[in-house]
Amino acid sequence: MKDTERNDIKRVTDEYLMPAVYGQQDLVLDHGEGVRLWDVDGNEFLDAVAGIAVVNTGHSHPRVVDAVQEQVENYVQSSYYFYHEPMADLLQTLAERSPGDLKNTFFGNSGTEAVEGAIKLAKKATGSSEFISLRGSFHGRTPGSMALTGQNKYTHTFHPHVPGAYKIPSPNYYRYGDRFEDENEFGKWAAEQVREVVKYDSNDDVAAVVVEPIQGEGGIVVPPENYLPHLKEICEEEDMLLVADEVQTGMGRTGELFAVDHWDVEPDIMTMAKGIASGVPFGLFMGTEEVSETMAPADHYTTYGGNPLACAAANATFEVIEEEGLVENAATVGDEAFDRLEAMEADYDIVGDVRGKGLHIGVEIVTDSDSHEPSEDIAKDVRTQTHERGLLVSRCGTHGNVIRLTPPLTVSSDEMEEMLDRLEAAVSTVAKDN
Ligand code: PMP
Repeated sequence: MKDTERNDIKRVTDEYLMPAVYGQQDLVLDHGEGVRLWDVDGNEFLDAVAGIAVVNTGHSHPRVVDAVQEQVENYVQSSYYFYHEPMADLLQTLAERSPGDLKNTFFGNSGTEAVEGAIKLAKKATGSSEFISLRGSFHGRTPGSMALTGQNKYTHTFHPHVPGAYKIPSPNYYRYGDRFEDENEFGKWAAEQVREVVKYDSNDDVAAVVVEPIQGEGGIVVPPENYLPHLKEICEEEDMLLVADEVQTGMGRTGELFAVDHWDVEPDIMTMAKGIASGVPFGLFMGTEEVSETMAPADHYTTYGGNPLACAAANATFEVIEEEGLVENAATVGDEAFDRLEAMEADYDIVGDVRGKGLHIGVEIVTDSDSHEPSEDIAKDVRTQTHERGLLVSRCGTHGNVIRLTPPLTVSSDEMEEMLDRLEAAVSTVAKDN
């Protein structure tokens, strides 16, 4: 593409897009295939962003493309007014594959909408109106989901928030675990903070604890082994629901179909989006029968609910994930990656910690390994350097200092090795300057 045309695309976008968005990279997309993206100048990139952990089946997987094409030609929209096969198939698949007794699903259009719906369901099922969520969490940017989000960098200019949303500490052992004997002692303490909120902060009216099984935007925070099981126990004892926000961690990303499966924890309500439909906008929440049957007709609805196109894409996504063994691949390639990442942590002072499960990977960048002091600036440099070496990564973390790798789950061992070569070259260059 000519320079002028490329620059026009950027200029028009910058001028007319709502300036609320951020983080645009200097890259104009042309097309994608599998784990690769090409820009309009013909540059090829390995993609460890995957639309922010969305295209788990890889860019434009032929099975997904075929399913979407076929559905477009049939009918695109129905609303919940009419029954249709793509939705029936997906409802069945979700009930069969989801953890524990989750059974009933409501379909919306995004992760945020899924969280908003989960809030309504938890309120309806319990008759209570307060919520407990975690510092460092991310659940969305609309009023309810924003009130649950525990990072004021996303929320501070929009006070006052929906009341009755309390925060407990993040189970981030690397940042907050110093004074504890070991991870499990810390995990127990972090979960027990629910009871502290009930005792000191709440109006004794908590409907649910809302948790990302592994915090994503907060910096890929894998909790101590005992944390989620203990949280579930506390919820049962205190008569609260457990809501698992699997928007980022679901659909095989962490090497299990859902992240709660790592700990055999059964949520009462679960949210999903991102990877569910390989990039076709979609989001959903599920509830157990006991919880869901408290909803009455017209308690919730949306025009695009159960959209046939999105359902067809989601059905094809499940087929690809299962037939190509992508959950197992995420686990295997993720394990291989961690051997290499742990070596990087040992070799480079600016790599403070490497965390994650499967292909949900965070590399925490610090000024030096001893102080753990987070450095957003160094992380930005690492990202720029990886980009220059043809690897796309994103940044996350409460301090913006975690390099996140979430490649498509189709990534091969060799492709992952190539990604890590490029990442290490970038880290090594930046480390020399710091
Ligand atoms: N929950 C979690 C855990 C997320 O990671 C996100 C998005 N990063 C959301 C909710 C919001 O999803 P969406 O951007 O699709 O609205």
